[in-house]
Amino acid sequence: MTELDLIIDLHSGTDRQGPGSKEDTLRALSLTGLANKKGLKIADLGCGNGGQTLTLANHLNGHIAAVDLFPTFLNELNDRASAVNLNDKISSLEASIDDLPFEKDSLDLIWGEGSIYNIGFENGIKNWHQFLKRGGYICVSEITWLTQERPADIENFWSAAYPEIGTASKKMSVIEKCGFIPRGYFTLPPESWIDAYYSPLESKFDSFLEKHKNSELATRIVKEHNDEIALYKQNQAYYSYGFYIAEKIA
Ligand code: SAH
Repeated sequence: MTELDLIIDLHSGTDRQGPGSKEDTLRALSLTGLANKKGLKIADLGCGNGGQTLTLANHLNGHIAAVDLFPTFLNELNDRASAVNLNDKISSLEASIDDLPFEKDSLDLIWGEGSIYNIGFENGIKNWHQFLKRGGYICVSEITWLTQERPADIENFWSAAYPEIGTASKKMSVIEKCGFIPRGYFTLPPESWIDAYYSPLESKFDSFLEKHKNSELATRIVKEHNDEIALYKQNQAYYSYGFYIAEKIA
């Protein structure tokens, strides 16, 4: 198994593949004013196994194209949707979020929880803009500095891992520059990291190591995840996911 296969295996079977909760999804959705509209065309980009897709399907009238690069996650999403009779509202689509098959000006809503960083925030905002109708909304969560200054070690870690990390004002200015009006912003609370994401992941570590016979690669992957969790616990005052809600105006 490659490193990527192992990472997918570690992240499959849990409710989510990144920080976020049902409450966060609904809070962001409430800032769009789309909940009362009918026949919406929605894309959930980097959907993983569909934690937020199911919430969106439950609260919106319309159809969701749920896009991810990895069939393992899409298969889990299809099973979860069938289990709650939502499969007629959701189509899973294996594609890269920087090469999407949608028509220009066709979507009412683009959703992306913890996924846009994979293609870079500015690149993603620019690229996804074309697929929205004017008046359509983009809702994305993105790693964000909460303060102007922070300890050097955390600054160094994130600047190496994701150089585009920035403060909310910096992200907002990207959004504005790309033809959107920011309509809302909030940060994910610690529960959305710990209870919703890190704790379920941690509870898989032992069975994951056992399944992969404590291989060097599996052991390193668990260590890297443990380090990431420790880093968050120590430095949660300095970074979180920011949720950005914006309307396409031009
Ligand atoms: N939205 C989900 C998953 C977030 S993790 C949640 O919040 O739980 C990021 C997701 O993006 C993963 O499922 C990963 O498989 C997917 N991904 C990463 N790069 C991608 C790409 N280039 N195209 C499509 N999906 C991608």
